[in-house]
Amino acid sequence: MLTAEHIFINTGAISNIPPLKGDLTSNKVYTSTSLMDRKKLPQHLAIIGGGYIGMEFASMYRTFGAEVTVITPEEELLPREDREIAAEVQKIMTEKGVRFIFGARAQEIKEVNEDEVSLSLSNGETVNANAVLLATGRKPNIEHLGLENTSIELTEDGAIKVNEHLETTVRNVWALGDVKGGMQFTYISLDDYRIVENYLFGDLGYSLDSRKNIPYTMFIDPPLSRVGLTAKEAEEKGYEFAEGKMLVASHPRAHVINDLRGLFKVFIDKKTKKILGASLFGPESPELINLVKLAMDLDAPYTLLRDQIYNHPVMSESFNTLFNVPIKRTV
Ligand SMILES: Cc1cc2nc3c(=O)[nH]c(=O)nc-3n(C[C@H](O)[C@H](O)[C@H](O)COP(=O)(O)OP(=O)(O)OC[C@H]3O[C@@H](n4cnc5c(N)ncnc54)[C@H](O)[C@@H]3O)c2cc1C
Repeated sequence: MLTAEHIFINTGAISNIPPLKGDLTSNKVYTSTSLMDRKKLPQHLAIIGGGYIGMEFASMYRTFGAEVTVITPEEELLPREDREIAAEVQKIMTEKGVRFIFGARAQEIKEVNEDEVSLSLSNGETVNANAVLLATGRKPNIEHLGLENTSIELTEDGAIKVNEHLETTVRNVWALGDVKGGMQFTYISLDDYRIVENYLFGDLGYSLDSRKNIPYTMFIDPPLSRVGLTAKEAEEKGYEFAEGKMLVASHPRAHVINDLRGLFKVFIDKKTKKILGASLFGPESPELINLVKLAMDLDAPYTLLRDQIYNHPVMSESFNTLFNVPIKRTV
């Protein structure tokens, strides 16, 4: 038994295992963690789930040369992303050879032989594969912590409930990272540390409430990076906005690196001239998105990025064009 003045729970998340019938313990059924330990490339990988992890593995294993099928209950790809961008992702992934089965749930897994399993889907289809990846989300890892013996409360989603300083419902016990729910990223776990450090040793000036825009990237090929709102979200929130859009192929850097794939979009509040969001699908977008995040955090007008002198030929130079949106000049 350990006792301490302060306790920090930072146990991460674990894969959700969907309630499938059949042989879930088959050595051909994997999570994102166990698939990486497999030494042999499966000839055909079936991925249950079309979320970010499913898509990253689909892109990676297709690049390695495996046949890849993604099975998703959604009727469309990446429902939380901009529709035009999601359509472009689907087009490029399909051209790459990834097969998508929409509107279907995997229901049962059966061993066919030593090297093959079959998946029965809710739409009546059967998919045979040499490996199956369960990419059906991740949940806070509270197993074996014995929280039921404490007054530490959980949220409805099974995460540890915290206040804006990440303190749990028990004083001097904190929860950080994936285990406290919300966005699951390495840099969120790191930033959670900043919040706790600020609370314990700082000026109380930084908390969950003061955290600003959080960018993220889905590392498919090419990558999709996003910060802030999509057009649909901006519409729902009642913004009157203008849209900037450019094909990656129209930018010189794309020709230098010989990768013309992708589409960049940004959304600008017409009233305040501030950037509402960016969806950048294309090469080098994981770096670019941080620049947009910085401008958004600084509450800068979109013209800051539009009118920068960028060096050449680099991808950020595309902002001269991308942010050249049709908004009336007030000066
Ligand atoms: C396939 C995949 C791809 C990802 N890609 C990205 C990406 O590109 N970028 C990104 O930012 N994030 C990515 N993530 C998410 C990222 O890995 C997590 O958000 C991040 O690791 C969470 O950090 P954490 O500190 O909460 O926990 P973790 O990094 O998961 O660390 C938790 C630690 O706690 C230990 N632990 C668990 N239970 C106990 C216990 N009872 N006692 C003691 N120790 C325990 C674990 O062994 C582990 O070492 C990805 C995740 C997955 C699964």
